[in-house]
Amino acid sequence: MTDAVLAIHGGAGAMAREEASADVREAYQNAMREILRNAGRILDEGGTALDAVTEAVRLLEECPLFNAGRGSVFTSAGTHELDAAIMDGRTLKSGAVANLRTVRNPVLAARAVMERSQHVLFVADGAEAFARAHGLECVEPAFFSTPERRAQLERVQRTSADGTALDHDGTPTAQSAVPLSFPGGSQDSALSSAPLDEGRKLGTVGAVALDAHGNLAAATSTGGMTNKQPGRVGDTPIIGAGCYASNDTCAISTTGTGEMFIRLVAAHDVAARMKYAGASLERASHSVIHEQLPLIDGSGGLVAVDAHGNVSMPFNTEGMYRGFIRTGQAPVVAIYR
Ligand code: ASP
Repeated sequence: MTDAVLAIHGGAGAMAREEASADVREAYQNAMREILRNAGRILDEGGTALDAVTEAVRLLEECPLFNAGRGSVFTSAGTHELDAAIMDGRTLKSGAVANLRTVRNPVLAARAVMERSQHVLFVADGAEAFARAHGLECVEPAFFSTPERRAQLERVQRTSADGTALDHDGTPTAQSAVPLSFPGGSQDSALSSAPLDEGRKLGTVGAVALDAHGNLAAATSTGGMTNKQPGRVGDTPIIGAGCYASNDTCAISTTGTGEMFIRLVAAHDVAARMKYAGASLERASHSVIHEQLPLIDGSGGLVAVDAHGNVSMPFNTEGMYRGFIRTGQAPVVAIYR
Protein backbone atom coordinates (compact mmCIF):
# COMPACT_ATOMS: atom_id res chain seq x y z
CA MET A 1 0.00 0.00 0.00
CA THR A 2 1.21 3.51 -0.85
CA ASP A 3 0.78 6.53 1.39
CA ALA A 4 -2.04 8.48 -0.20
CA VAL A 5 -1.88 12.23 -0.81
CA LEU A 6 -4.21 14.88 -2.22
CA ALA A 7 -3.11 18.36 -3.36
CA ILE A 8 -5.34 21.24 -4.49
CA HIS A 9 -5.04 24.75 -5.91
CA GLY A 10 -7.49 27.63 -6.11
CA GLY A 11 -5.71 29.82 -8.64
CA ALA A 12 -2.48 31.81 -8.83
CA GLY A 13 -1.96 35.55 -9.00
CA ALA A 14 -0.53 38.79 -7.75
CA MET A 15 -0.57 39.99 -4.18
CA ALA A 16 -3.55 42.16 -3.34
CA ARG A 17 -2.74 45.84 -3.21
CA GLU A 18 -3.96 46.24 0.29
CA GLU A 19 -2.57 43.37 2.19
CA ALA A 20 -5.29 40.94 3.14
CA SER A 21 -6.34 41.02 6.75
CA ALA A 22 -5.62 37.98 8.86
CA ASP A 23 -9.38 37.25 8.85
CA VAL A 24 -9.51 37.13 5.07
CA ARG A 25 -6.45 34.93 4.75
CA GLU A 26 -7.88 32.67 7.39
CA ALA A 27 -11.18 32.37 5.49
CA TYR A 28 -9.37 31.20 2.35
CA GLN A 29 -7.11 28.88 4.29
CA ASN A 30 -10.01 27.43 6.25
CA ALA A 31 -11.94 26.79 3.05
CA MET A 32 -8.95 24.93 1.60
CA ARG A 33 -8.37 22.94 4.82
CA GLU A 34 -12.00 21.89 4.95
CA ILE A 35 -11.98 20.80 1.32
CA LEU A 36 -8.73 18.87 1.81
CA ARG A 37 -10.13 17.12 4.90
CA ASN A 38 -13.43 16.23 3.23
CA ALA A 39 -11.98 14.99 -0.04
CA GLY A 40 -8.95 13.48 1.71
CA ARG A 41 -11.25 11.24 3.71
CA ILE A 42 -11.98 9.35 0.50
CA LEU A 43 -8.30 8.39 0.30
CA ASP A 44 -8.14 7.57 4.03
CA GLU A 45 -10.94 5.09 3.52
CA GLY A 46 -9.14 3.35 0.67
CA GLY A 47 -11.03 5.19 -2.09
CA THR A 48 -9.59 6.05 -5.47
CA ALA A 49 -7.53 9.04 -6.53
CA LEU A 50 -10.19 9.61 -9.19
CA ASP A 51 -12.94 9.94 -6.60
CA ALA A 52 -10.77 12.16 -4.38
CA VAL A 53 -9.94 14.68 -7.14
CA THR A 54 -13.55 14.68 -8.34
CA GLU A 55 -14.82 15.50 -4.85
CA ALA A 56 -12.09 18.07 -4.15
CA VAL A 57 -12.86 19.95 -7.37
CA ARG A 58 -16.62 19.66 -6.83
CA LEU A 59 -16.20 21.27 -3.40
CA LEU A 60 -13.96 23.99 -4.86
CA GLU A 61 -16.65 24.64 -7.50
CA GLU A 62 -19.24 24.98 -4.76
CA CYS A 63 -17.13 27.52 -2.86
CA PRO A 64 -17.72 31.05 -4.25
CA LEU A 65 -14.26 32.20 -3.18
CA PHE A 66 -12.80 30.44 -6.19
CA ASN A 67 -13.34 31.01 -9.90
CA ALA A 68 -15.05 27.76 -10.87
CA GLY A 69 -18.68 26.70 -10.61
CA ARG A 70 -20.46 29.18 -8.30
CA GLY A 71 -18.39 32.35 -8.22
CA SER A 72 -17.17 31.98 -11.80
CA VAL A 73 -16.04 35.11 -13.63
CA PHE A 74 -18.12 36.74 -16.38
CA THR A 75 -17.45 36.78 -20.11
CA SER A 76 -17.48 40.11 -21.95
CA ALA A 77 -21.14 39.42 -22.72
CA GLY A 78 -21.97 39.15 -19.03
CA THR A 79 -22.46 35.38 -19.22
CA HIS A 80 -20.62 32.43 -17.69
CA GLU A 81 -18.82 29.73 -19.69
CA LEU A 82 -17.34 26.96 -17.58
CA ASP A 83 -14.64 24.45 -18.52
CA ALA A 84 -13.37 21.32 -16.76
CA ALA A 85 -11.29 18.19 -17.31
CA ILE A 86 -10.41 15.01 -15.48
CA MET A 87 -7.87 12.26 -16.15
CA ASP A 88 -7.31 8.81 -14.69
CA GLY A 89 -3.59 7.99 -14.51
CA ARG A 90 -4.26 4.25 -14.32
CA THR A 91 -6.03 3.95 -17.67
CA LEU A 92 -5.17 7.28 -19.34
CA LYS A 93 -8.90 7.74 -19.79
CA SER A 94 -9.96 11.36 -19.71
CA GLY A 95 -13.02 13.55 -20.09
CA ALA A 96 -13.50 17.27 -20.60
CA VAL A 97 -16.18 19.89 -21.20
CA ALA A 98 -15.98 23.47 -22.40
CA ASN A 99 -18.39 26.41 -22.56
CA LEU A 100 -20.92 24.94 -20.15
CA ARG A 101 -23.61 27.43 -19.14
CA THR A 102 -25.99 25.66 -16.78
CA VAL A 103 -24.30 22.52 -15.42
CA ARG A 104 -23.78 23.07 -11.73
CA ASN A 105 -20.60 21.03 -11.39
CA PRO A 106 -18.52 20.95 -14.58
CA VAL A 107 -16.12 18.41 -13.08
CA LEU A 108 -18.98 15.91 -12.81
CA ALA A 109 -19.77 16.52 -16.47
CA ALA A 110 -16.12 15.90 -17.38
CA ARG A 111 -16.19 12.69 -15.39
CA ALA A 112 -19.39 11.59 -17.13
CA VAL A 113 -17.76 12.22 -20.51
CA MET A 114 -14.82 10.05 -19.43
CA GLU A 115 -16.89 7.20 -18.09
CA ARG A 116 -20.08 7.30 -20.12
CA SER A 117 -19.01 8.23 -23.62
CA GLN A 118 -16.44 7.09 -26.14
CA HIS A 119 -15.15 10.63 -26.46
CA VAL A 120 -12.86 12.96 -24.56
CA LEU A 121 -14.18 16.49 -25.12
CA PHE A 122 -17.66 17.96 -25.52
CA VAL A 123 -18.31 21.69 -25.97
CA ALA A 124 -21.16 24.18 -25.65
CA ASP A 125 -24.65 22.95 -26.59
CA GLY A 126 -23.45 19.39 -27.12
CA ALA A 127 -21.79 19.35 -23.71
CA GLU A 128 -24.92 20.76 -22.09
CA ALA A 129 -27.10 18.15 -23.80
CA PHE A 130 -24.73 15.34 -22.80
CA ALA A 131 -24.77 16.46 -19.17
CA ARG A 132 -28.57 16.69 -19.10
CA ALA A 133 -28.96 13.32 -20.78
CA HIS A 134 -26.82 11.82 -18.02
CA GLY A 135 -28.87 13.38 -15.26
CA LEU A 136 -26.42 15.99 -14.02
CA GLU A 137 -27.88 18.85 -12.03
CA CYS A 138 -28.49 22.01 -14.05
CA VAL A 139 -29.11 25.49 -12.67
CA GLU A 140 -30.08 28.91 -13.96
CA PRO A 141 -26.97 30.72 -15.25
CA ALA A 142 -27.48 33.33 -12.51
CA PHE A 143 -26.60 30.62 -9.97
CA PHE A 144 -22.93 31.11 -10.89
CA SER A 145 -23.03 34.91 -10.55
CA THR A 146 -21.91 36.79 -7.52
CA PRO A 147 -22.06 40.59 -7.10
CA GLU A 148 -18.30 40.57 -6.59
CA ARG A 149 -17.62 38.94 -9.96
CA ARG A 150 -19.97 41.38 -11.71
CA ALA A 151 -18.12 44.29 -10.11
CA GLN A 152 -14.88 42.70 -11.31
CA LEU A 153 -16.20 42.55 -14.89
CA GLU A 154 -17.39 46.15 -14.77
CA ARG A 155 -14.02 47.27 -13.44
CA VAL A 156 -12.07 45.42 -16.14
CA GLN A 157 -14.35 46.82 -18.84
CA ARG A 158 -13.95 50.35 -17.44
CA THR A 159 -10.16 50.17 -17.23
CA SER A 160 -9.44 48.36 -20.48
CA ALA A 161 -9.13 50.40 -23.67
CA ASP A 162 -10.23 47.61 -26.00
CA GLY A 163 -12.56 45.94 -23.56
CA THR A 164 -10.73 42.65 -23.75
CA ALA A 165 -8.35 42.82 -20.79
CA LEU A 166 -8.03 39.45 -19.17
CA ASP A 167 -7.77 38.75 -15.49
CA HIS A 168 -4.03 38.51 -15.50
CA ASP A 169 -3.51 41.60 -17.66
CA GLY A 170 -5.86 43.74 -15.62
CA THR A 171 -4.41 47.12 -14.82
CA PRO A 172 -4.28 47.17 -11.06
CA THR A 173 -6.46 49.85 -9.63
CA ALA A 174 -6.88 51.19 -6.12
CA GLN A 175 -9.99 49.06 -5.78
CA SER A 176 -8.58 46.01 -7.47
CA ALA A 177 -9.25 43.70 -4.56
CA VAL A 178 -12.79 42.51 -5.04
CA PRO A 179 -15.00 41.94 -2.03
CA LEU A 180 -15.97 38.31 -1.83
CA SER A 181 -18.77 36.50 -0.14
CA PHE A 182 -17.67 33.72 2.11
CA PRO A 183 -19.35 30.35 2.24
CA GLY A 184 -22.22 30.48 4.62
CA GLY A 185 -21.45 34.05 5.57
CA SER A 186 -22.68 37.46 4.58
CA GLN A 187 -20.51 39.96 2.78
CA ASP A 188 -18.45 41.84 5.25
CA SER A 189 -16.63 45.00 4.36
CA ALA A 190 -13.85 43.92 6.70
CA LEU A 191 -13.37 40.98 4.37
CA SER A 192 -13.27 43.04 1.22
CA SER A 193 -9.61 42.50 0.40
CA ALA A 194 -8.85 39.04 -0.94
CA PRO A 195 -5.32 37.74 -0.29
CA LEU A 196 -4.55 37.71 -4.01
CA ASP A 197 -5.51 40.64 -6.24
CA GLU A 198 -8.80 39.55 -7.80
CA GLY A 199 -8.15 41.93 -10.69
CA ARG A 200 -4.97 40.05 -11.55
CA LYS A 201 -5.69 36.58 -10.29
CA LEU A 202 -5.59 33.57 -12.56
CA GLY A 203 -8.55 31.80 -11.17
CA THR A 204 -9.06 28.12 -11.70
CA VAL A 205 -9.26 25.23 -9.29
CA GLY A 206 -7.71 21.82 -9.46
CA ALA A 207 -6.70 18.70 -7.61
CA VAL A 208 -4.22 15.86 -8.00
CA ALA A 209 -4.03 12.68 -5.96
CA LEU A 210 -2.18 9.43 -5.39
CA ASP A 211 -4.28 6.73 -3.75
CA ALA A 212 -3.27 3.80 -1.56
CA HIS A 213 -3.40 1.50 -4.59
CA GLY A 214 -0.69 3.55 -6.33
CA ASN A 215 -3.02 5.20 -8.85
CA LEU A 216 -2.81 8.85 -9.88
CA ALA A 217 -5.56 11.23 -11.04
CA ALA A 218 -5.98 14.92 -11.84
CA ALA A 219 -8.92 17.31 -12.33
CA THR A 220 -9.18 21.01 -13.20
CA SER A 221 -12.17 23.37 -13.44
CA THR A 222 -12.55 27.07 -14.25
CA GLY A 223 -14.80 29.96 -15.10
CA GLY A 224 -11.95 31.15 -17.34
CA MET A 225 -10.84 34.75 -17.43
CA THR A 226 -12.86 37.85 -16.62
CA ASN A 227 -14.13 39.56 -19.76
CA LYS A 228 -13.05 36.69 -22.02
CA GLN A 229 -14.75 36.64 -25.40
CA PRO A 230 -17.66 34.23 -25.61
CA GLY A 231 -16.41 30.98 -27.08
CA ARG A 232 -12.82 31.41 -25.88
CA VAL A 233 -11.46 28.21 -24.36
CA GLY A 234 -8.31 28.14 -22.23
CA ASP A 235 -6.04 25.32 -21.14
CA THR A 236 -8.27 23.88 -18.42
CA PRO A 237 -10.26 21.41 -20.56
CA ILE A 238 -7.34 20.63 -22.87
CA ILE A 239 -5.84 17.31 -21.81
CA GLY A 240 -2.07 17.70 -21.58
CA ALA A 241 -2.26 21.48 -21.16
CA GLY A 242 -4.32 22.13 -18.01
CA CYS A 243 -4.71 18.58 -16.75
CA TYR A 244 -2.75 15.35 -17.13
CA ALA A 245 -2.24 12.10 -15.23
CA SER A 246 -0.27 8.94 -15.93
CA ASN A 247 0.65 6.33 -13.35
CA ASP A 248 4.14 6.03 -14.81
CA THR A 249 4.99 9.66 -14.02
CA CYS A 250 2.68 12.13 -12.30
CA ALA A 251 -0.66 13.92 -12.05
CA ILE A 252 -0.81 17.66 -12.84
CA SER A 253 -3.40 20.45 -12.60
CA THR A 254 -2.47 23.94 -13.78
CA THR A 255 -3.67 27.51 -13.35
CA GLY A 256 -2.53 30.53 -15.29
CA THR A 257 -2.54 32.28 -18.65
CA GLY A 258 -4.32 29.50 -20.47
CA GLU A 259 -3.08 30.31 -23.95
CA MET A 260 0.55 29.91 -22.82
CA PHE A 261 -0.17 26.63 -21.04
CA ILE A 262 -1.76 25.33 -24.24
CA ARG A 263 1.22 26.42 -26.34
CA LEU A 264 3.63 24.66 -23.97
CA VAL A 265 1.35 21.65 -23.53
CA ALA A 266 2.45 22.40 -19.99
CA ALA A 267 0.99 19.56 -17.94
CA HIS A 268 2.20 16.90 -20.36
CA ASP A 269 5.59 18.58 -20.60
CA VAL A 270 6.12 17.95 -16.88
CA ALA A 271 5.31 14.26 -17.37
CA ALA A 272 7.47 14.04 -20.51
CA ARG A 273 10.50 15.50 -18.72
CA MET A 274 10.12 12.81 -16.09
CA LYS A 275 9.53 10.00 -18.55
CA TYR A 276 12.09 10.77 -21.24
CA ALA A 277 14.73 12.76 -19.35
CA GLY A 278 14.46 11.06 -15.99
CA ALA A 279 13.79 14.37 -14.23
CA SER A 280 12.35 14.36 -10.73
CA LEU A 281 8.84 15.77 -10.25
CA GLU A 282 10.30 18.83 -8.56
CA ARG A 283 12.83 19.47 -11.34
CA ALA A 284 10.34 18.84 -14.15
CA SER A 285 7.59 21.03 -12.74
CA HIS A 286 10.00 23.84 -11.85
CA SER A 287 11.48 23.80 -15.36
CA VAL A 288 8.07 24.26 -16.91
CA ILE A 289 6.88 27.00 -14.55
CA HIS A 290 10.12 28.90 -13.93
CA GLU A 291 12.04 28.34 -17.18
CA GLN A 292 9.63 27.59 -20.04
CA LEU A 293 6.58 29.65 -19.11
CA PRO A 294 8.45 32.96 -18.68
CA LEU A 295 9.99 32.51 -22.16
CA ILE A 296 6.55 33.16 -23.68
CA ASP A 297 5.40 35.63 -21.01
CA GLY A 298 3.18 33.11 -19.34
CA SER A 299 2.31 33.20 -15.69
CA GLY A 300 0.69 30.85 -13.26
CA GLY A 301 1.46 27.63 -11.48
CA LEU A 302 0.52 24.01 -10.98
CA VAL A 303 0.07 21.32 -8.39
CA ALA A 304 1.57 17.92 -9.04
CA VAL A 305 2.04 14.58 -7.35
CA ASP A 306 4.15 11.65 -8.54
CA ALA A 307 3.79 7.91 -8.15
CA HIS A 308 5.94 8.02 -4.98
CA GLY A 309 3.75 10.62 -3.31
CA ASN A 310 6.09 13.58 -3.81
CA VAL A 311 4.18 16.83 -4.10
CA SER A 312 5.31 19.89 -6.08
CA MET A 313 3.43 23.21 -6.22
CA PRO A 314 5.52 25.76 -8.17
CA PHE A 315 4.17 29.13 -9.38
CA ASN A 316 5.80 32.20 -10.90
CA THR A 317 3.26 34.67 -9.54
CA GLU A 318 3.35 36.21 -6.08
CA GLY A 319 0.92 33.72 -4.71
CA MET A 320 -1.16 30.65 -5.38
CA TYR A 321 -3.93 29.26 -3.21
CA ARG A 322 -2.67 25.76 -2.54
CA GLY A 323 -2.52 22.90 -0.08
CA PHE A 324 -2.13 19.18 0.40
CA ILE A 325 -3.07 16.45 2.83
CA ARG A 326 -1.44 13.09 3.47
CA THR A 327 -3.31 10.17 4.97
CA GLY A 328 -3.38 10.45 8.73
CA GLN A 329 -1.87 13.93 8.76
CA ALA A 330 -3.21 17.47 9.09
CA PRO A 331 -3.74 19.55 5.95
CA VAL A 332 -1.03 22.03 4.95
CA VAL A 333 -2.19 25.19 3.15
CA ALA A 334 -0.48 28.34 1.87
CA ILE A 335 -1.15 31.40 -0.26
CA TYR A 336 2.05 33.39 -0.68
CA ARG A 337 5.59 32.28 -1.43
N1 ASP B 1 -6.11 28.77 -17.05
C1 ASP B 1 -7.48 29.18 -17.05
C2 ASP B 1 -7.87 29.71 -18.38
O1 ASP B 1 -7.01 30.15 -19.11
C3 ASP B 1 -7.82 30.21 -16.06
C4 ASP B 1 -6.78 30.60 -15.16
O2 ASP B 1 -6.20 29.76 -14.46
O3 ASP B 1 -6.58 31.78 -15.14
O4 ASP B 1 -9.04 29.72 -18.68
